[in-house]
Amino acid sequence: MDPFTNNYILFWVCIFGLCFGSFFNVVILRSLSNESIVFPASKCPKCNNKLKPWHNIPVVSYLFLRGKCAFCKEKISIQYPLIELVTMLLFAFCYIKFGLTWNCLFGVILSSCLLIMTMTDLKEKLVDCNIAIGLGVVGLIYNYFVNSAFLDSVYGLLAGVVIMELLARIGYLISKGRAFGEADTYVAGALGACFGLVGLIQVLFYTLLASMVFVIPMFLYRQLRKGNRAICILFILFILSALFYKTVLQNWYSFGLLVGLGFMLSLLVLKNLKTEHEPLYLPLVPSFTLGALYFLFF
Ligand SMILES: [Zn+2]
Repeated sequence: MDPFTNNYILFWVCIFGLCFGSFFNVVILRSLSNESIVFPASKCPKCNNKLKPWHNIPVVSYLFLRGKCAFCKEKISIQYPLIELVTMLLFAFCYIKFGLTWNCLFGVILSSCLLIMTMTDLKEKLVDCNIAIGLGVVGLIYNYFVNSAFLDSVYGLLAGVVIMELLARIGYLISKGRAFGEADTYVAGALGACFGLVGLIQVLFYTLLASMVFVIPMFLYRQLRKGNRAICILFILFILSALFYKTVLQNWYSFGLLVGLGFMLSLLVLKNLKTEHEPLYLPLVPSFTLGALYFLFF
């Protein structure tokens, strides 16, 4: 394909992304409030005035209205243009990575579902299981027709459900409850159906890494608020020594320093986890999303 045609298609993919992002904002908002997705027309949550069509242009309207409602000047959440831009980027990445193929459409559907579930999970710790079920069905169909890997897709689905249910039920051993919600099982099953068994294992590994991105800062912040500075200082020293080992000096001394600090840090973390009363909230769906998108694009 010549570069001009390619850029032309990319342009329209971006426009589609913006429009769908605008639609996803509505889906996120209404799946939290249990309203119909199609009716009624969008209105300002503060003054209830119905929005005019030109108030609904993705990103452009937000900039034009300077982030305020046209009627009552109430601030509009930055979430709206952000979701639109993120959706645009996801669609564009899918097109750049896969071209105009079924893989591209699959990537678009996958990242859209994950984005919506991530936002509702982050906002209200609520995930619409129907979206996960729909994604699982798409994964099965995609693997049947495009990859001719239907069985692998089924194995992935089963493995995702079984692994997450087992992990969730370990919660009963430690405290009186599931370690995390049922929605996470649905999402893992859907990802298994999308990526197959081996893909799922890799995605779960990336998910584990991604969850650290959320959990470590939250844990350190909590420790700092409790006046527990030692753990934060030790963590910074550990990161610095890791950087030092990686970039400046690689010998047994710098390695020993790294291991020693890591050992002290893990002892302190374990000691503090024991005295922690409220459980640390694990944002699993956002971690799943990061893991799955990393697997999809890289
Ligand atoms: Zn208003």
